[in-house]
Amino acid sequence: MSENKDFLRVKVEEDLKAGKYKEVVTRFPPEPNGFPHIGHAKSICINFGIASDYDGHCNLRMDDTNPTKEDTKYVEALKDAVQWLGFDWGKSVYFTSDYFQKIYEYAVQLIKMGKAYVDSVDEEQMREFRGTVTQAGKRSEYANRTIEENLDLFEKMKNGEFKDGEHVLRAKIDMGAANMKLRDPLLYRIRHAHHFRTGDKWCIYPMYDFAHCLSDYIEGVTHSICTLEFENNRDIYNWVLDTLELTPPRPYQHEFARLGINYTVMSKRKLLELVDGNYVSGWDDPRMPTIAGYKRRGYTKESILNFCDQIGIAKANSMVDVAQLEYSIRDDLNTKVPRVMAVLDPLKVTIENYEGSEELEASYYPHDVPKEGTRKIPFSGELYIEREDFSENPPKGFYRLTPEQPVRLRHGYIIACKEVVKDNEGNITEIKAQYYADSKSGSDTSGIKVKSAIQWVSAKEAKKVEVRLYDRLYKNEAPESLDDLNPTSLKIIKDALIEPAVITEKPDERFQFERQGYFYADPVDYCEENPVFNKIVGLKDSWGK
Ligand code: ATP
Ligand code: MG
Ligand code: MG
Repeated sequence: MSENKDFLRVKVEEDLKAGKYKEVVTRFPPEPNGFPHIGHAKSICINFGIASDYDGHCNLRMDDTNPTKEDTKYVEALKDAVQWLGFDWGKSVYFTSDYFQKIYEYAVQLIKMGKAYVDSVDEEQMREFRGTVTQAGKRSEYANRTIEENLDLFEKMKNGEFKDGEHVLRAKIDMGAANMKLRDPLLYRIRHAHHFRTGDKWCIYPMYDFAHCLSDYIEGVTHSICTLEFENNRDIYNWVLDTLELTPPRPYQHEFARLGINYTVMSKRKLLELVDGNYVSGWDDPRMPTIAGYKRRGYTKESILNFCDQIGIAKANSMVDVAQLEYSIRDDLNTKVPRVMAVLDPLKVTIENYEGSEELEASYYPHDVPKEGTRKIPFSGELYIEREDFSENPPKGFYRLTPEQPVRLRHGYIIACKEVVKDNEGNITEIKAQYYADSKSGSDTSGIKVKSAIQWVSAKEAKKVEVRLYDRLYKNEAPESLDDLNPTSLKIIKDALIEPAVITEKPDERFQFERQGYFYADPVDYCEENPVFNKIVGLKDSWGK
């Protein structure tokens, strides 16, 4: 647990101390209408985190009251995400739809108490009657229906005798309330739609404001934690539970600031648009801000958990810099993954004075990483280096190979360029070079000074791989529409070359390709015939600088 307690934990401790509850029960209540995103990860960390800190329990509840948008595949994705992040919801997943009968009975009870009525105005009139911030609303004539009439109509609504929109059930609260949400909020609407769990059993569905507080109560939730947009809904939450005079203890709602990240959209509706429009390859496209996307890209669960922890829990909305998330994964991988060499845009180098071959022993980890491990790198007279590590007409400050400037091959020898070979169009096709036998890394007595060391692979042993370079999905800091998509967010390189140590038998392995970034063997597409590596994140840290 963090040393500085956030306001939610302070509240939980207060309630426990006061003996308000025996055990803390929270819930994570997503609507299964899309894959969970990084904002959900924050909510998962808060709800499961608090429950675990206080030896309580956190329920995973599918808030499935909107039949037209929900689906089992999203339920599975939500379960996967919670599990991957390392949390446990206990014996079973809960569904609001399991409480439809109970919630219906509570509605009938409110009607019997004279606290709810069937309204039959059309949408336009309903809006007009609602009033404005400065002007009180008024009830429609239907608010005068007798309890018997209301019971009868509500039952007929349930039995499917009316069309969508013909009637609604409303709470009878206060059409003059300063909090507009309290102006006789909707409790039920008619929706003739097939529900992915209850099928056609119901054609009336409870609204969020009615279903949520009751589901919390039914499950014995103590702290119902939601995002700030629901601040004004809290009064309805309390009204419903208080009016029904439920046996205590009852839950209370607490709000925290929603996570927003720049260069990122975080609404399932907008993410669905990207998937449906094929702007990405699916919900798990490595550019998506979904848990499935981060997972496929190669983010570790630790990096997501650390990020959620570091951004903290606030009461006011703010925007988090995406560089902070990138920092978090870089920071995690830095101490974990082996360093290897890959060449993304190969340029052939022939070392004319080298004969035969040898193996160079090289550490997987730099000195400041407390991990052990070495591999053997094949070395020969035929190598590939990164095309951009050679310059015929170097700009000022270019420290790599030029016709005049030698360079060190990482873990190997110093080489100098002797000849630049070109094709008919003037493109460089090969460098003929010379190596210095006494310059071997670790036992260099050559006295030659070089300004940098570059990655390389031996031509014969190198393996051809596909590398997918991912960049931010949006080019604008505050993306609004599809026009803000970054047209170069994915670059595919088909014939990159890696040293043999990178050739893993299974996907799901991470490496740092030296000087290039962190890479992940794609868990879906990687196979022996077509090894695919996803770029997780670059090496440069732009955050906090
Ligand atoms: P979206 O429209 O982005 O999908 P939502 O609030 O409709 O978000 P739900 O499935 O209803 O999504 O959310 C489940 C839980 O996750 C809720 O408690 C909600 O407050 C929380 N949540 C959703 N988005 C964020 C976010 N960006 N930051 C923090 N919590 C979030
Ligand atoms: Mg919601
Ligand atoms: Mg939503």
